[in-house]
Amino acid sequence: MRLTVFSTKSYDEAFLEGANAARGHSLAFLEARLSRETAALAEGSAAVCAFVNDCLDAEVLKQLHAGGSRLIALRCAGFNNVDIEAAAELGLTVARVPAYSPYAVAEHAVGLILTLNRKLNRAYNRVREGNFSLDGLLGFDLHGRTVGVVGTGKIGAAAARILNGFGCRVLAYDPFPDAELQALGVRYASLESLYAEADILTLHCPLTPETHHLIDAAALERMKRGLMLINTSRGALVDTRAIIDALKSGQVGYLGLDVYEEEANLFFEDLSQILIQDDLFTRLLTFPNVVITGHQGFFTHEALTNIAETTLANVTAFETGHGELHAVTAPKRAAASK
Ligand code: NAD
Repeated sequence: MRLTVFSTKSYDEAFLEGANAARGHSLAFLEARLSRETAALAEGSAAVCAFVNDCLDAEVLKQLHAGGSRLIALRCAGFNNVDIEAAAELGLTVARVPAYSPYAVAEHAVGLILTLNRKLNRAYNRVREGNFSLDGLLGFDLHGRTVGVVGTGKIGAAAARILNGFGCRVLAYDPFPDAELQALGVRYASLESLYAEADILTLHCPLTPETHHLIDAAALERMKRGLMLINTSRGALVDTRAIIDALKSGQVGYLGLDVYEEEANLFFEDLSQILIQDDLFTRLLTFPNVVITGHQGFFTHEALTNIAETTLANVTAFETGHGELHAVTAPKRAAASK
């Protein structure tokens, strides 16, 4: 089956070609991001492969359908960038990679916690400049601290297990509690309790209309002063303006982001020779207690291998009607990503 791959980076091509060796699909790699302006490039391609910042709104889907596409094979877990209802109306199948390595993202979230907690970003720069002073690098033990995990699906559960291993008191909020986590000692509580009790809050729920700006000014006010907030899920879970105000007032003591509301215009590109025009993003970069990575939580060898394998297995399953097709259906309001 012909598959046009949008937003291709060299690593996507390498892993997808590797996984395709035994399958024989015809892959066309495009660097362009999928948008209303580029959708026509997929004309004649029965399947389209897209990533997190590709635009799959109703208009783009209509164009893809008119060009002969029938399958959208997402090479990611989240599908907030796809108008699922419009796809269903057009008769387009949307498939995704529901699980590739929850450990990759969970470990990255914990990496951000440890970086902030022990100020490793600042220590790294100091030592490189021959500055071995410890002033300003005082950290705190994770052991005994209360961590709130919002969303205990695959990634949140992996993060909760790691943090449990550190000796943290792990509180969780999810409409669907995980009995195995409860058996480990993780306690489910209301979002309000997490806000009131957590020293560290880590977000692992999907972005849906209900969770858009889940962390806004009102939510931040209800949190413990000096809280550490970690977001490796989707940028728009957090209201950037509100978080900047909370950083300035000290209400938020540490912020670790792997995702950002307006990341589509920034991430996955080398912009080091260009002046960044996003003033909110550049403001975030000025805080010494903020660490940002450019959506690299998924970026491990294991995850990329699994992503490529499942993406192409989805294409084969769609083409042959055999094997598991990880199709996405419109989320029920309460059970967002289940
Ligand atoms: P998952 O579907 O396994 O788990 C999501 C969990 O969130 C579910 O248990 C669900 O019940 C829960 N949930 C839904 N709505 C909620 C709400 N309002 N409050 C609390 N919990 C809620 O998904 P996953 O594989 O664990 O991925 C989680 C998110 O991580 C994805 O939606 C995606 O946005 C993000 N992600 C980021 C990266 C990265 O590279 N940074 C990579 C993969 C996934």
